Amino acid sequence: VQEEYLMFQRERESNARAYSRHFPFILQKAQGVVVTDVEGKQYYDCLAGAGTLALGHNHDVIIAAIREVLDQQIPLHTLDLATPLKIEFMKEIFSALPEEMKHTAKIQFCGPTGADAVEAAIKLVKHATKGKSILAFQGGYHGSTQATMSMSGNLSKKQHLQSLLPDVHFLPFPYEFRCPFGVGNGMTATISAQYIEHLLDDCESGVANPCCVIVETVQGEGGVIPADVIWLQQLRKITAERNIPLIIDEVQAGIGRTGKMFSFEHAGIIPDVIICSKAIGGSLPMSVVIYQEALDQWQAGAHTGTFRGNQLAMATGLATLKYVREQRVLQNVEERSAQFFEGLHQLRRLYSEIGDVRGRGLMIGVEIVNPNKPFDRLGHYPPDGELAAMIQKRCFENGLIIEVGGRKGAVLRFLPPLIINKTETEKVLDIFAESVQQAVE
Ligand code: PMP
Repeated sequence: VQEEYLMFQRERESNARAYSRHFPFILQKAQGVVVTDVEGKQYYDCLAGAGTLALGHNHDVIIAAIREVLDQQIPLHTLDLATPLKIEFMKEIFSALPEEMKHTAKIQFCGPTGADAVEAAIKLVKHATKGKSILAFQGGYHGSTQATMSMSGNLSKKQHLQSLLPDVHFLPFPYEFRCPFGVGNGMTATISAQYIEHLLDDCESGVANPCCVIVETVQGEGGVIPADVIWLQQLRKITAERNIPLIIDEVQAGIGRTGKMFSFEHAGIIPDVIICSKAIGGSLPMSVVIYQEALDQWQAGAHTGTFRGNQLAMATGLATLKYVREQRVLQNVEERSAQFFEGLHQLRRLYSEIGDVRGRGLMIGVEIVNPNKPFDRLGHYPPDGELAAMIQKRCFENGLIIEVGGRKGAVLRFLPPLIINKTETEKVLDIFAESVQQAVE
């Protein structure tokens, strides 16, 4: 039956969703970190809904939250109308914010996807600042709608769609491993920040009058590239001095993924706008924009939309946030992260095909390179997307699901559920090591 279903999928599902073909199976059920296909084969899921499943699949508290909504006849869909559940969810989100925002920040519920919240955030800051241009980063990713694609710095994937939003400018992101300013000299972040400052102050640079700077603290789709925390602090300072709202896109890195509830907390900065989706819905579609009170200049009805009231997602989102707060999940993220990094660095010492191991918390990337080609001008082997795809394939065959990303698809990405335990992590690392060995043979 698996083959028959797969053939049907291949024939009838849009090629735009072709990444799923790297995982030729039909899923039957899932629990925690493990998913099972219709033939009973099990896999460790380190894609986890692209980082959505903070508590893994079908966690008891998630299932209980859904049951409660159904048992209590809570309306499933309420537009923007309030329910006790919605108010409790809002309170739980606010309580997770840094002290400086907790008591004053505003929240706006958006459509079900991350891109919906990015769109809303951009409209918000355009309205509040009257600014026109958007400053985003090379390698960044913010979604697949027309506007969010415009802001995504993964340019090669969208050239066929030009032209998108005008007035988007891409700033250099501090990608230590392949940095145009040189590697290992500590200059990446500093030069990048100085360059941004220069662009903003140069009246001829064409980036005058921006409505925002939008950034991921760890670029996810772009290849799991963590921004230096000092650079983030500099970016905050530069934008604050010029009254430019700083939007942090926490869609992938937020809700504990990096070891803090919000990933910007590593840098101790306070953004103007925070965008959350994925894990904040606790397995179900949800997105929100959280922002400083001063930006709240919307006129009534300035940004509308239908699906903002999904009570099931509020229930599962609330259950997730509470669980993360009460059950030492962030501590687990730190411990498992250390375990992952130890294992992966060990592997890196064995294989010259592993160029870089990096990330923050349980957002981890392994950049695969081709050691048979000459060094690039920075002294690194070039990225090898083909070998990365081969390793991904071997992983799948051996029972591990990981995604690829980054330039040329050469970065293998681990986004396991935040509740992954020590034994499961060991097993994942074992399968990965075995798969690398098979792929390079
Ligand atoms: N921002 C970031 C940082 C993301 O990683 C993603 C999705 N991977 C998005 C925005 C867009 O979210 P969605 O796919 O739900 O529209």
